[in-house]
Amino acid sequence: MGYKEISKSGNENYNLLDYDMARKKFNWWNDAFNKMDWLPGGGLNNAFEAVDRHVINGKGDKLAMIWVGKNEEEEKYTYLELKQKSDNFGSVMRNLGIKRGDKVFIFMDRLPELYISALGILKSGGIIAPLFSAFGPDPVKDRMEDAGARYLITTPELRQKLDDILPQIKTLKNVIIVNKDSRYKDPLQKGDLSYEDLMQSCCEDKFEIEHTTQYDFAIIHYTSGSTGKPKGVLHRHQAVIQQWLTGKLALDFTPEDIYFCTADPGWVTGTSYGILAPWTNGVTQLIYEGGFGAQSWYKLIEKYKVTIWYTAPTAVRLLMRAGGKIIEKFDFSSLRFIGSVGEPLNPEAVVWGNENYGLPIHDNWWQTETGAIMCANFPSMPIRPGSMGRPIPGIEMSVIDENYEPVPVGEIGALAVRPGWPSMMYAYWEKDEMYNSRFKKGWYITGDQASMDEDGYFWFQGRADDVINTAGHLVGPFEVESALIEHPAVAEAGVIGKPDPIAMEIVKAFVTLNPDFKPSKNLSRELIKFSRSKLSAGIAPREIDFVDIMPKTRSGKIMRRLLKARELGLPEGDISTLEED
Ligand code: AMP
Repeated sequence: MGYKEISKSGNENYNLLDYDMARKKFNWWNDAFNKMDWLPGGGLNNAFEAVDRHVINGKGDKLAMIWVGKNEEEEKYTYLELKQKSDNFGSVMRNLGIKRGDKVFIFMDRLPELYISALGILKSGGIIAPLFSAFGPDPVKDRMEDAGARYLITTPELRQKLDDILPQIKTLKNVIIVNKDSRYKDPLQKGDLSYEDLMQSCCEDKFEIEHTTQYDFAIIHYTSGSTGKPKGVLHRHQAVIQQWLTGKLALDFTPEDIYFCTADPGWVTGTSYGILAPWTNGVTQLIYEGGFGAQSWYKLIEKYKVTIWYTAPTAVRLLMRAGGKIIEKFDFSSLRFIGSVGEPLNPEAVVWGNENYGLPIHDNWWQTETGAIMCANFPSMPIRPGSMGRPIPGIEMSVIDENYEPVPVGEIGALAVRPGWPSMMYAYWEKDEMYNSRFKKGWYITGDQASMDEDGYFWFQGRADDVINTAGHLVGPFEVESALIEHPAVAEAGVIGKPDPIAMEIVKAFVTLNPDFKPSKNLSRELIKFSRSKLSAGIAPREIDFVDIMPKTRSGKIMRRLLKARELGLPEGDISTLEED
């Protein structure tokens, strides 16, 4: 707060011009459900809405995807080509015997085949489970085992990472290997299937889309909590309705747009806003295989005349660090909207964007469980830097107290949403109790703390749990602690998020050692390396401290709150449950 509101020119022809009026008049049926084409003969399939309907409606020649590889290779796909290829892959999956509701893991870099196979699986009635390619074997095993994976689509080098764990996934039927441009000489291991061979021997014209209903499951994404391993959030085909709507209202998609989303489909933003929202809105999507790079991203925006750019606060902070000088070397005149999600966006970043790109950065808020944007700084609305904006039409949000009653304006409480929005998660896979615990007295409890100002703008205040948000990735401390204690030197591990100016938080671990092991810099380095190989560089701790005693409750739970307070030099708070040594 303390930053001036940024008002807009008001000359633009945004999809949402009058927020208050739109909110008042909004009707889910007329303004959203009815805007889908629905399957011929009834039913709803999100991939059909994203791709096929544009072809049926005469827009097949429109460019759907511009793909740019790590080495600047380029491929372009029209909506028709995307339909044909995804139909083809749908046939492949049919021939392999996929059944409605089978879970198909996709463990791949952002290759065109990731998008083609995801759409094909959705069309054949399967559930997609995309994972970050940076994951080590442990997170992949945990998730595949938990979900009961039936199929895996991956690439030769990533498959090698999984050699030891795949035999343990008893539900797994087939492994399909994408060997793009024949990069590998012997890509297949015993029993593996070749994506390219399967695609060649199978015909899209024989494909008939599965008649999924809006209630069928489509996507499972894993998300972290403070206890236990990550849980699978299940979304239904119905979610596409809100993804389409928010793409239109919060990101202002029109069919003329060239849209660049920097999120990976391993994270919900990469499916909701990297597949479904843009393509249901008929935009041309730029997909970049490479990771963050100020120079490379700016080059892409200039070269492909990107109009809408959706990114995340850590990336924005890195761009701020790269400085304004480099921006002057590029032409950003095509750009008309920048959005951000995943972590709190510092008010100075909003202002910096305005000064350096000539556009403020629009923060919006949502989470894996909500499936789509819930509140946003809309293009036509004045931005309050540091705020997450106002709820989208049709969504009721509130800040509530321990009795589930709204708190007075400006006070901090639990951020809650009235259940029943179309993209609401349908389940935590096989964790009903945990799912039910999120719904109380007519509210969905988000797990975030927030406040609301007098005009209905929401302000993020923190999380209500121990989950760490590092560079936009939620990390459950338990997952990291479990990996660390597998090292012979480690007796116990407690993991916290330590504030960081760029990544918001970094993962920091405290460990006690087994007898015969002594704290040393070498051992600390070894533990970091060990957890990186098991988890991924993004999840593994960046700092390790050795402690003599791990603070625990009398019931044996590690008191991460206390570790954090000590790390930050803050008051230790209530330690009445601390176990005496
Ligand atoms: P995920 O489910 O991984 O997308 O993470 C969702 C969580 O990220 C939310 O519950 C928040 O804690 C955080 N988050 C997402 N968007 C924002 C935002 N705009 N401002 C602050 N925190 C955010």
